[in-house]
Amino acid sequence: MSTDSVQPFLPFALPDIGEAEIAEVVDTLRSGWVTTGPKTRRFEEDFAAYLGTPGLHALAVNSATAGLHLALEALGIGPGDEVITTTHTFTATAEVVRYLGADVVLVDIDPTTLCIDVDAVERAITPRTKAVVPVHYGGLAAEMGRLLSLARKHGLRVVEDAAHALPSTSGGRLIGTLDSDATVFSFYANKTITTGEGGMVVTRDDALARRVKVMRLHGISRDAFDRFTAKVPSWYYEIVAPGFKYNLTDIASALGIHQLRRANEFQRCRQAIAHAYDQALAGLPLLRPPGPVVGDLHSWHLYVVRLTDEARISRDSFIEKLFAAGIGCSVHYIPLHLQPYWRDRYGLRAEQFPHSQHAYERMVSLPMYSRMTEADVLRVAAAAREALVG
Ligand SMILES: *Cc1c(COP(=O)(O)O)cnc(C)c1O
Repeated sequence: MSTDSVQPFLPFALPDIGEAEIAEVVDTLRSGWVTTGPKTRRFEEDFAAYLGTPGLHALAVNSATAGLHLALEALGIGPGDEVITTTHTFTATAEVVRYLGADVVLVDIDPTTLCIDVDAVERAITPRTKAVVPVHYGGLAAEMGRLLSLARKHGLRVVEDAAHALPSTSGGRLIGTLDSDATVFSFYANKTITTGEGGMVVTRDDALARRVKVMRLHGISRDAFDRFTAKVPSWYYEIVAPGFKYNLTDIASALGIHQLRRANEFQRCRQAIAHAYDQALAGLPLLRPPGPVVGDLHSWHLYVVRLTDEARISRDSFIEKLFAAGIGCSVHYIPLHLQPYWRDRYGLRAEQFPHSQHAYERMVSLPMYSRMTEADVLRVAAAAREALVG
């Protein structure tokens, strides 16, 4: 075996939890207040301030999946409605539409950006279409200018799945501050900032924010913070709807407060890693990921390469060879049209999604996390070279 086998395993992703996060969690544990309370309120305020646009509501929830569900529920999506989204995403983006009894209409991606194809969205609009859910794939903003004007023209709602997009910009504006109805971020363990599990719904729509607040905690018609911390007798409340249990805990928010402060530093680390990969992988039979539009910011949640036809091995054996060299890779994503539930529910065929299918068969997500070193990047590139042309 090569010397690779004695090197520690290089994971595909790794959270970057500092001492400030740990101290804040400990402080929370000692405070006696472990569920939704003052730290969650602070995390929400800090998040809105980070986005820096007046009038934005930031509502913490226990996952992005919960946030997407709540946003679509608040928009009144229900049985008989259609919601258009990309086939090239995680199932969470689409499953929430089914929770509400509405139908998912999957469309293909742009072959370069791997984000939703706005022309395909336009072709998929029917009289039943109510909303579109774009995904900022890997942290690269979807074509939001065109998508938002298309949505306006047809009276459609837009909820951004921004699970990958903190911080990313579109037209110079941070994702979360665009003119969509709501934007949902994820703080899952492998995302650009993490609270273990968690998410944030961002909206400037006061009514939508009110509904999300009520529905994230059992349909109780008072703010969770008030219910748990009001000085006045707090035993009285009213249930106005069959809500959900989607609130974020203060333990999680304690992490979020400090992760958020480091979001820009994390982005710079990831961007430097992406640039290092671009250089180290040059000349190999790989299509490297596109950078952002000039002047825009890419969060670099993922660094996805695609094997070209000159590569003499399959994507699957490429991943096996890197694994044998102690390097973890992943695939984002097995498109929804190939997943049994989605395929069978809507009778989908791969030929309907040629760009997603083509990309899927060739794509590999290389290790990407803030604490990766230049040496790690070179190690991945050397293993890739060995696998592809060695
Ligand atoms: C991670 C992810 C989600 C779900 O996020 P959770 O916080 O785990 O619910 C949704 N959409 C995309 C594109 C994701 O990557």
